[in-house]
Order: sequence, then C-alpha cells, then structure tokens
Amino acid sequence: MLKDKSQSYKEKIYDYIIIGAGPAGCFCAVQLKEAGKSVLILEKNSIDDGKVCGDGISMKCVNLLKKLDFPLDRFVESGATQIHKRIIIRNGKREVTHFGLDDGTVSFGIPRNKTDLIFRCYAAEKGVDIIYQTTVSKISKTKGYFSIDNFFAKRVIVACGSFSRLTILGTNLKYCTKNMAVGISTTIKCKCKAEPCFLFDYDAMYKGQYAWIFKTDDDNWNVGLWLRHDKNKIKEYFYDFINNKLPTYLGVDYQMQCSPKGAIMAIKKDGIKRNPIFKPRVNGIYYIGDVNMSSDELEGEGIRQAIISGLILAGKLTKSRKIKTLLGKRWLWKQLVLKKSTT
Ligand SMILES: Cc1cc2nc3c(=O)[nH]c(=O)nc-3n(C[C@H](O)[C@H](O)[C@H](O)COP(=O)(O)OP(=O)(O)OC[C@H]3O[C@@H](n4cnc5c(N)ncnc54)[C@H](O)[C@@H]3O)c2cc1C
Repeated sequence: MLKDKSQSYKEKIYDYIIIGAGPAGCFCAVQLKEAGKSVLILEKNSIDDGKVCGDGISMKCVNLLKKLDFPLDRFVESGATQIHKRIIIRNGKREVTHFGLDDGTVSFGIPRNKTDLIFRCYAAEKGVDIIYQTTVSKISKTKGYFSIDNFFAKRVIVACGSFSRLTILGTNLKYCTKNMAVGISTTIKCKCKAEPCFLFDYDAMYKGQYAWIFKTDDDNWNVGLWLRHDKNKIKEYFYDFINNKLPTYLGVDYQMQCSPKGAIMAIKKDGIKRNPIFKPRVNGIYYIGDVNMSSDELEGEGIRQAIISGLILAGKLTKSRKIKTLLGKRWLWKQLVLKKSTT
C-alpha cells in the first residue's frame, strides 16, 4: 500500500514550518531551502485556489523576480498579459505612461490563482515540502520543539496573509483591523480592443485611494476598488464605478464573470500598528508578509512587498550576504530589526 506522503513529513523535525503558501511564505521557503534548511509549508487552500486580488504583478515586482533568477516565462506560458501602459486619472486629468518598450521592463496581468500556483510549483521544485488543504489553528510547544498537529519544527514562520484565526502559544493572533483598508474586486470579460493597461482612477470620493481596471488573461479584466475611509460604502462606490465609469473606459459591453469579493487589505499607514505579538527573539516565531503589514501606502504592490519581507527574514536567519546585496537599500534590511525592537 502507498504510504500517505504527508505521513512521512510528520516523522521529521523541520528547521522551519511556514504557515501559508502565499508569496511571502513561498519565497522565504526557497531562500531557506537554498541555505540548506529543511522547510515545510502548510497551506489551508488547494494548490490552485485563488484569492481576492487586483491580479497585477507590478514592474518593480517583475524586476525583483528577475534578480532572483525566477523563471518569468512561466507567467507568459500561463497566458499572462504583458503590460506596457499605465493610465492614471486624477482630478479629471488623464496621465498616460508607456514603459519598457526600449528597456524590456514589463508588468503582468494574470489571475491570482495562476500566480500563486506558479510560486508554489517553483518552491516545490526547489525542494520545499508543501502540504495543501491543511488549516493550522494552533501552534504549541512540545519538548522544546514547535508542534502543529503532528508536525514539528525548530522555528515557525507565520505567513498567513491579512487575516487568519490562529492561536499561537496560547495567544490569539490579533489584527488591528480598525484602521485597515478594504478592497473589492471581480473579473469581467469584454472584447475591448484597447491596448492592455493598468488603469487607476483616483476619484475624489475615494479620498486618496483608487478604483482600478487591470487587463489580465484572455478577454478578462480585473476591476476593483480599495478604501481606507467610508469602508461601509465600498459596494456602493464599486457598483457606481462599474455602471458609470467602466463603460466609458472600456467602450464596449462587458460581462461580470463572478460576484465581487472583498478582503481586508494589509496596507500600512502611519499610526497603524503591526501584529502586537511579534516577538521573534523571545519565542522563535516570525511574521512575514501581510500578517506583518509588509506593504505600505507609498510602496503598495503587496505581492512584491510580501516577497521582500520573506527574503529579509530568510536573509537574516541564514546571514545571507547574497540577499542583503540583492535587496540593496539598507532600510529594507533594517526594517525587520526595527520591528523586533519595538515589541
Ligand atoms: C482587493 C485586493 C487587491 C489586491 N491587488 C493586488 C495587486 O494587483 N498586486 C499586488 O501586488 N498585490 C495586490 N494585493 C495585495 C496582495 O494580495 C497581498 O499583499 C499579498 O498576497 C500578500 O502575500 P502574503 O504571502 O503575505 O499573504 P497571502 O497571499 O494572503 O498568503 C497567505 C496564505 O496563507 C494561507 N493561510 C491563511 N491562514 C492559514 C492557516 N490558518 N493555515 C494554513 N494556511 C493559511 C492562505 O490560504 C494563503 O494562501 C491586493 C489585495 C487585495 C485585498
């Protein structure tokens, strides 16, 4: 009889267990693995489940992935649209930017389930063990090791995104949701002849945030909106955008592919505290990506920031000069140290 593979994972003590196979978890895992550590990721969803997203991989994110020698052709093979045009609408003015036509830089529009699938396969190819459909609800300590059900590790990395119910060594993971932003998005199908682009509409009523239309694969476009203020009006604003502005931007009829879905957005702003139980030095548990509010209003680009957060932690844990050099700016390296000292 074939032995259940996850059974063999239970028989060993890993150097690291990571909770969550999002961008933060996957890229942290790969770097740890490359440094010779044993790593297991536990992921609650299936390998190709999606999540609420704008489906955009920014140019800066693509550049970071290039530096990591990540096989970018996988995006193209998965049907991602290569984007070279950005439109920003603010105060009635339309600013159009073309990029990458001479220097080869590019952004991608790709459904999020495909992006996560690509990242997860990449991590698995690098030797990271990943178990899907396994929801972690409790992290305990047994005989000096962390235990999650019957999995054991010397250290645990929490990379569970902007919201998850987790009890960590007897304390519930707390989120400061009061000041956090919310986002909503859906996919529409439309045979629009417009050049693929990322469009951002900073309407005054969104108070500094924006609605977006991002071209993704096939005839699909991701349409969404995020708000930090008037959060209870998000659906009203979203449908107003869909009904009144979308047709003027795309110029043709469209069909909504699925009901819009909302999610908390872990975008940091001055005054918003990160996870209050972040005490890596004390208990050997680390928090990366959205759970640790890795992106902020200035940088945005949650996927890229989550990856960077995973790289910083892996770099610190393995004392990797390669990652330090790769990330360049010293403040990025310091980011985690600062977070440690404020707990
Ligand atoms: C509406 C919206 C639009 C966005 N658009 C964009 C965009 O276009 N481009 C961009 O760069 N960023 C975008 N973001 C932000 C981006 O999605 C996040 O910043 C990024 O996914 C964070 O990565 P992460 O690895 O920290 O968390 P996640 O990607 O959320 O991954 C966490 C993983 O942990 C798993 N998990 C959670 N709890 C448990 C548990 N208890 N046990 C086991 N597994 C668990 C989850 O299933 C998930 O796979 C958007 C966010 C929202 C809400």
